[in-house]
Amino acid sequence: MKNFSYVRATSVSEAIAHSSNNPSALLIAGGTNLVDRLKVFLDQPSQLVDVSRLDLKQIETTPEGSIRIGALVTNTAVADHPQIRRKYPLLSRAILAGASQQIRNVATVGGNLMQRTRCVYYYDTAFECNKRQPGSGCPAITGVSRSNAILGASDRCVAVHPSDMCVALAAVVEVEGPRGKRQIPFAEFHRLPGNTPQRDTNLEVGELITAVILPPLPFAQSGVYLKLRDRASYAFALVSVAAAVDVSSGRIRNARLAMGGVAHKPWRLLPMEQFLVGKSVEDATLRQAADLALRDAKPLTGNKFKVELAKRAIRRAIAVAAKGEGIA
Ligand SMILES: Cc1cc2nc3c(=O)[nH]c(=O)nc-3n(C[C@H](O)[C@H](O)[C@H](O)COP(=O)(O)OP(=O)(O)OC[C@H]3O[C@@H](n4cnc5c(N)ncnc54)[C@H](O)[C@@H]3O)c2cc1C
Repeated sequence: MKNFSYVRATSVSEAIAHSSNNPSALLIAGGTNLVDRLKVFLDQPSQLVDVSRLDLKQIETTPEGSIRIGALVTNTAVADHPQIRRKYPLLSRAILAGASQQIRNVATVGGNLMQRTRCVYYYDTAFECNKRQPGSGCPAITGVSRSNAILGASDRCVAVHPSDMCVALAAVVEVEGPRGKRQIPFAEFHRLPGNTPQRDTNLEVGELITAVILPPLPFAQSGVYLKLRDRASYAFALVSVAAAVDVSSGRIRNARLAMGGVAHKPWRLLPMEQFLVGKSVEDATLRQAADLALRDAKPLTGNKFKVELAKRAIRRAIAVAAKGEGIA
């Protein structure tokens, strides 16, 4: 094992100074993903910067009516918060579908966004992996690919983003770094692998997530999070769907949908959302919508089943959300 130093940051600026002065330093919050990575030598930082005591633990309503969640709020505290449960029940349900109660009790919002993508070959250093060692190869493309991506992948990487919370987030990410503060629209926060699979996000060196901001979303109350996985709990999604739909007199007025477990980032279904507006909620429409959502799918040998699974999950999630029921 490579030795590393440990420092506990007492302010956001101190954390930024540590991590920008040392590009091989890593921040640690709840540690539920990072410690696992350290144990199997995926990351070998020269320093760990502990941000877990920083004053980023509030959930507050802004004057504009948004909800601002500090980066160090635990997943449990977000899911259980009365305002989140009332205004964003879909987010609460998605968080509760992830990991275990014990992990959610220490896992933080910032850490959840920053958890690395998953692939059995990335987590096993006996194999080459373009994410660990750019240019070394991607054995998943011809190997075991049951859990891997079917959308937005590249010939360098087919890993998937594993977060449930992120699939249900309609948010802006607030970050702070050596050049000050900035806000990143959530859709631009995570990256597709392209030629740089080693980068999962657009966070720059030295930057730290300070909060996520949830704007008011009037129809967020009618949201469904459907997670399909190999075990009933404590398993990552093979496919998940977050669906919020606004239905009036049997017709869809507005829709917001995203999928998890299918791509290197939470996969927003924008063309399908546009297709659904003005349509009635009937099986033929939902079939067309699901076909559209998976039109560009490129499954691997081991995960062809995900295409049909995703289509069925989309149809079921929209149908249940349209009835105003939260549980699919
Ligand atoms: C057994 C197991 C099962 C799991 N199952 C699921 C599941 O089903 N669904 C799901 O969604 N998740 C699941 N998870 C993942 C879990 O949600 C994440 O590990 C957790 O959210 C990470 O948060 P953390 O605070 O512990 O992050 P850490 O492990 O401390 O950090 C993770 C990464 O984030 C970076 N980081 C942390 N905070 C910040 C910040 N403020 N700014 C910038 N970078 C930061 C760290 O440098 C590190 O790279 C599972 C984890 C385990 C171990």
